[in-house]
This record gives sequence, C-alpha cells and structure tokens, in this order.
Amino acid sequence: MPNIENNITAVQRRLQQAARDADRNPDDILLLAVSKTRTSAQVNLAHQAGINSFGENYLQEALDKIELLKSQSLDWHFIGPLQSNKTKQAAENFAWVHSVDRLKIARRLSDQRPSSMAPLNVCLQINIDDEQSKSGFTPEQAVEAAIAIAELPNLRLRGLMAIPKPGDSAAEQRLPFAQLRALQEQINSKLDNSQKLDTLSMGMSGDLEPAIYEGSTIVRVGTDIFGPREPKPSTEGLVER
Ligand SMILES: *Cc1c(COP(=O)(O)O)cnc(C)c1O
Repeated sequence: MPNIENNITAVQRRLQQAARDADRNPDDILLLAVSKTRTSAQVNLAHQAGINSFGENYLQEALDKIELLKSQSLDWHFIGPLQSNKTKQAAENFAWVHSVDRLKIARRLSDQRPSSMAPLNVCLQINIDDEQSKSGFTPEQAVEAAIAIAELPNLRLRGLMAIPKPGDSAAEQRLPFAQLRALQEQINSKLDNSQKLDTLSMGMSGDLEPAIYEGSTIVRVGTDIFGPREPKPSTEGLVER
C-alpha cells in the first residue's frame, strides 16, 4: 500500500521547491488530488493529510464519492470529458469544471447551475498540441469562446487547462505550458478587468515542475499521491451510462 500521507508531503515539497526556483509564492498554487479510480477511504486519508480539493474524471464514480463524503465539505473539481447529457449533474455537484471543450457545454452548465449555489468555476480545455485525438478548443477558437463564456451568468470563467503530450526534455516540457500562458495573456487583453482569467490548470505527476515554472496555479496530481492506477475495467468511464 502506498503511504498517501508521505506521498502528499513529498509532492508538497516538490511544489514548494519548484515555486521557489521560479520566484513564486507556493501559496498561489493549488495541489488538486486526482482521485479517479480511488475509493472514498483513500480520499479520506488524503483529506486527513491536508488535501481539500479533489479532481474526478468519471461522473457516476464521482457522484458516489461526493455522496459518501458529503459531511467533509470538500471541493470537487470535474476534470474529465463531459458529455452534454451529463452537464446537469456536473453543474449541481461540483465547484469547478476544468474540461469545458465546447460552447454548448458551457451554455448548458450555466443554464443548469442552481441559483442557490455560487457560480460554477470553469476552465476551457485547450488542445495545445493540436492532436486529432484530443478534445479541447484549438488556441485560435479559444479567444472567441472565452469572450462568449465570460458573459454566461452562472459561470465564472477562471482560466485554461491543458494536458500536453510528454516531452523528452525539461525544456521541451515547458514549451506547451508557455504557450498556454501566452494564450491566457492574449485572452485577458480582450476581457474586461472584472473578467480577467486567474487560473492555469496545468502540470501532473510527471511534469508539475515545468508547469509551475510557466505559471501553473493548479497542479492535478494522481499517481504521485495515490500510487499507480489499476487499468480501468472494460468500458467504464468511456461510454455513456
Ligand atoms: C488522470 C489525470 C491527471 C493525473 O495524472 P497523474 O499522472 O496520475 O498525476 C491529471 N489531469 C487529468 C485531466 C487526468 O485525467
């Protein structure tokens, strides 16, 4: 069994060291524990070790855990692919959605966010390597989409998210993160002061340092906190349920 508490301490040290190297305040970077495929007991252990924010990819699995852990007042972030028939449950149960990849999804989330809740924080997922197989806005589409989504009443557009393909060297790994930061600056130059983006959701277990050097404000870490993931059984999470 991996020791979740020790792992969290080690990841926090890495985050702090990278922030120091980049002359940044480590308090400006949120460690989001990615708990997909993990049990509610494992989430509880991470919470006891100081983590309050958890990232989930599969809606039904997430809803089960949110229900089991509702007494803990955790912040839940949806980071996986979101089909339009699942937006209502996402809008009703999460504090953040990092994976908005179409205008239609953003409109539905805004329409379905209960008025009793604070606006839903969202990031636009950017297909930064322009890979055919990956979801997300292209950088060209993102500027116009951001301007439209920033106007939706029950959302708060916070920033951009990307999952770049792994690079061969540290310098190569920084490049897509630098591109994401530049895209954020470009978008901010078109938004009103009250709408400016303050979030870059980038960096995972294998590349959190280069992401922090380039301005990441949320690192999404699964493996280095909870240990290696079991392969997903058959189709779970990949198909509509
Ligand atoms: C699984 C996942 C992560 C975490 O990846 P690790 O390599 O296990 O740290 C981060 N972001 C997204 C979108 C993921 O799906």
